Formats: sequence, C-alpha cells, structure tokens
Amino acid sequence: MNRRLFFNRLLIGFGSASIVKERGYALKKKNKPMVKTPISICTWDFKKANFQAGMALESGKDALSSAIIGANVEEENPKNSTVGYGGTPDREGTVTLDAAVMDHKGNCGSVLGVKKVVNVSSLAKDVMEKTPHVILSGKGAQNFAIKNGYKLKSLLTEDSKKKWMEWKKKPIYNPNTNIDNHDTIGILCLDKKGNIGGVCSTSGLAYKMQGRIGDSPIIGSGLYIDNNVGGAVATGLGEEIIKIVGSFLVVELMRNGKTPKQACDEALLRIYRKNKSPKFQIAFLALDKHGNSGSSCLQEGFSYYRYKNNTNKNLKVRPI
Ligand code: ASP
Repeated sequence: MNRRLFFNRLLIGFGSASIVKERGYALKKKNKPMVKTPISICTWDFKKANFQAGMALESGKDALSSAIIGANVEEENPKNSTVGYGGTPDREGTVTLDAAVMDHKGNCGSVLGVKKVVNVSSLAKDVMEKTPHVILSGKGAQNFAIKNGYKLKSLLTEDSKKKWMEWKKKPIYNPNTNIDNHDTIGILCLDKKGNIGGVCSTSGLAYKMQGRIGDSPIIGSGLYIDNNVGGAVATGLGEEIIKIVGSFLVVELMRNGKTPKQACDEALLRIYRKNKSPKFQIAFLALDKHGNSGSSCLQEGFSYYRYKNNTNKNLKVRPI
C-alpha cells in the first residue's frame, strides 16, 4: 500500500468511525428511555403499604406490580379490619373480599365477594393476565385462586368475630356514621417509565348484606386509569360512588384540564349536591401523568400517603 492510499484509508477510517460514533450517540439519545421519579399514593394512613410500593418502584418494578406489593401489606395485616385478613364480616359473619387492578395499557381485572383468599389484589391481576375475562366472582374466583396456588385461610380473626357478635346484639346497619370504618386501600403508582398502575382492595362495608358488592372492584367506580391522563381511586360509601362512576369521572375531568385536586372536588360535589348534608364519608384520590396528586373528602378524618424521593408523607385532606 502506498503512503497516500494508507493515509486516505486512515482518514476514511477516522471519518466513518466518527460517523458511527455520532450515529451511535444520536441513536442512543433518541432511544434512551426517560427515567421518571417514581411516585406512589395511597388512601388513608397505610404508611407501610405505600412505602413498600415506593420501594418496589425504586427497584424498577412496574407500576401495577408495585401497587400490588403495597396492597398485599394491608391484605395480610390482621389489625386492618376493612381489608383482607381480619376484615369485618357481613351480617352472617362471613368475610368476603373485593379487589380491582388496572395497568397502563388499560387492561383490568377484578374479583368480587371472594371468601378465604387473602391477597385478592394479586388474584385480580391473575384474572386480568390469565383468563379471557375481566371479572370473576364468588366460588368461581375462589376455584380460580386454588388452581393458581393460593392457599385458603379463614379471614375472620378472633377480634373481628368478637366485634361481629357484639354487633349482632343490636344489629343496626348504619354506614352513615361509619366514618372510621372506611379503610379501603387504593394505591396509584407512577413508575420509572412514566406508566401508571393501580389497585383497590377491601372487605367492603362492615355488616353489609350477604352478597353486597361496593364500588371497589367495579372498574371506573373504585379505580380507573388512563395512562395518557392519570388515575383515580375511591373510598367510602360505595353505593354513592357507583352512582356517579366516581373514579372514571375524576379521570375524565383531568382529561378536560382539571388538576387532580379540582377533579376530585368536582366529582365529590356531585355526590354532595345529591345528598343534602351527607353524613357518610367518601374520598377520591387522583394522580396525573406528571406525578401531581390531589384528593377530596366529605368528612374530617381522611388523609393519604405520598411517596417520592425516599420520603413517605402523610397529607391531611380538608373536607369540601
Ligand atoms: N368503598 C368501600 C365499599 O363501599 C368501602 C370503603 O371504602 O371502606 O365497599
């Protein structure tokens, strides 16, 4: 090879290398996923559940899986009398659980009136992923759980049984004054990819009629997510939430430009106006796709947890 040819090749080599390098950089830049700061928000004072969801997000788990990790904490907590194991039974003394999940693609799953299965939010996800259906109820949901390796366990603890026996002496169903007994767990997570997923899990209202289902497992009422907009969850007197398809309404209001707080307020006002001076509790909690959160409630006593950057904060919500 003569000297000129050698230098020419060297130059071409340098040139093409730098083009490749440039292209490589350009490609890398274009394809580089935007890493978002994960956020988790959770109804009521479920500090540990929200923290676990936040930790799962930090470790890179997707939004729905993280929300379920959080919900499982309360489902397994015998001291929580309104979610999972230790939940308050119906009038006949049977604990039945409801749960719904939704992911960023708009997939959803739910289970209604399930007996003896603790982690119903995981079960709802299995319905979503492993069946051609969206909802399974009662015995069918339980059989599906058994087939998928869930262990059956009595959900009635000594404590919840004692309280039920006490209630039976004067069996008045009064969810209006039951503010302290609304403790459904609703978690919304925003993961590092900027996707939103969520869960709603409950044992329903204390001493409900046998077979009663509330808003929590009804997609659009207790939970709704649209990844282009945000997500919402609800807690409180389910019958009133169902009547306005509450969580769907909150998300649609955000789509129309409302902030999460404004959307929750407006949805709640619809219930407020229909029920002059309502004594029951209802709260909405919303998260938009940018990570802004907001909430609204009817009565004193509602707060929510918000996890971001290793901080898990309790935020009190003033009634509208
Ligand atoms: N919303 C639930 C239901 O009506 C109850 C609750 O939030 O505690 O079943």
